[in-house]
Amino acid sequence: MTASDPTGTPSSGAAESSPNTDAGDVAGESAVATARRQLGRAAAHVDVDRGVVERLRHPTKLQQVSVPLRRDDGTLDVFTGYRAQHDDVRGPYKGGIRYHPDVDAEECIGLSMWMTWKCAVMDLPFGGGKGGIAVDPKTLSEDETERLTRRFAEEIRDVVGPKRDVPAPDMGTGPREMAWFMDAYSMQQGETTPGVVTGKPTVIGGSYGREEAPGRSVAIVTRAAIDHYDRDLEDATIAVQGFGSVGANAARLLDEWGADVVAVSDVDGAIYDPSGLDTANVEGHDERPGMVSGYDAPESMSNAALLELDVDVLIPSAVGNVVTAENVDDVRADMIVEGANGPTSFAADAILEERDVPVIPDILANAGGVTVSYFEWLQDINRRQWSLERVHEELEAEMLKAWNAVRAEYEGSEMTWRDAAIAVALSRIGDAKEMRGLWP
Ligand code: GLU
Repeated sequence: MTASDPTGTPSSGAAESSPNTDAGDVAGESAVATARRQLGRAAAHVDVDRGVVERLRHPTKLQQVSVPLRRDDGTLDVFTGYRAQHDDVRGPYKGGIRYHPDVDAEECIGLSMWMTWKCAVMDLPFGGGKGGIAVDPKTLSEDETERLTRRFAEEIRDVVGPKRDVPAPDMGTGPREMAWFMDAYSMQQGETTPGVVTGKPTVIGGSYGREEAPGRSVAIVTRAAIDHYDRDLEDATIAVQGFGSVGANAARLLDEWGADVVAVSDVDGAIYDPSGLDTANVEGHDERPGMVSGYDAPESMSNAALLELDVDVLIPSAVGNVVTAENVDDVRADMIVEGANGPTSFAADAILEERDVPVIPDILANAGGVTVSYFEWLQDINRRQWSLERVHEELEAEMLKAWNAVRAEYEGSEMTWRDAAIAVALSRIGDAKEMRGLWP
């Protein structure tokens, strides 16, 4: 694969025979390279057709668009947007839209592969997609964000739709952006089409509980994992990196359920209280930026130091690639639960495996987001809103079902938790591909 060919399409037309599964950390490895190495590792444990695995190393389609933006001062800037559609054998492509300066084709493809596994682990009737714009949203006014979002929606209109590809929020986007996207799409369709995106405000077809769902699932899965290792949640110490929508909701729920959340952080740094923070009173990064590191706690420390705390569970919930070959030897947590997408590098994963430190993967732990997105999509189709209680109940049931499926694959095997989760996904995807066949 070369940088100019991010889809990794083999130039000779022949399938590449051996995916690179070496354990070495490749400095600044792209999400797609990591996703391919993880796929290679997990596939070795599953009875799945090699042709299916080869197909899954590549996205079905990659859309790259120019997004011109008229600035508030009248000048014009052009940004680059993407939509990677990885696989749709089980249903419409599904996955977020990210506004971040690092967004590029390789990142979107890698993240879309993780969405394919995530939806299959949860047994949702969706495939995987991911998109975004290479832009720092903090440099945009609200009006500029609206114009950029509407133009991006227009540029990718032909490839999305409730039965085709259903975007959602991701880093740098939220309900507001989804509302503009849905409106732009609906205006062109000539009919209100709430099911084109999920994660919308509740007044236009959004689901109750969608925003807190990824954090809630992280908490549910953490509780299940602690139980699996015969520990008591009430005695557990937990450090959470990132106090945005995922980290804050996970930390507050675990705190409510009796765990000691001893450290949380935002981009500016971490706060630490060995006897447990009162997380309900720490304002989230999304609620009021800068309030986490500004909170009056016994100790403050860097984000790097938070990752090295001697805790029972470390929950990295900020950005990708934070536990790497470089710092993994200093990670002292007994267990990692991934709140962010891709926080552990491929090499760090292998070292943690050698040290018997379980890593509960993103594609299971934070899958509550896309699961409640699925509930939202159902509510939009049926034009009937569910209560928050029903969302919580059904989310809990789906998370425990997925946890049990992954645990059954993991127990007694030579696999890591990540291998086991991808293996569950691969068997389901492989079966669907076998039934549908290859045509033309
Ligand atoms: N962006 C979220 C994720 O990474 C949610 C995607 C969705 O709801 O479609 O899982």
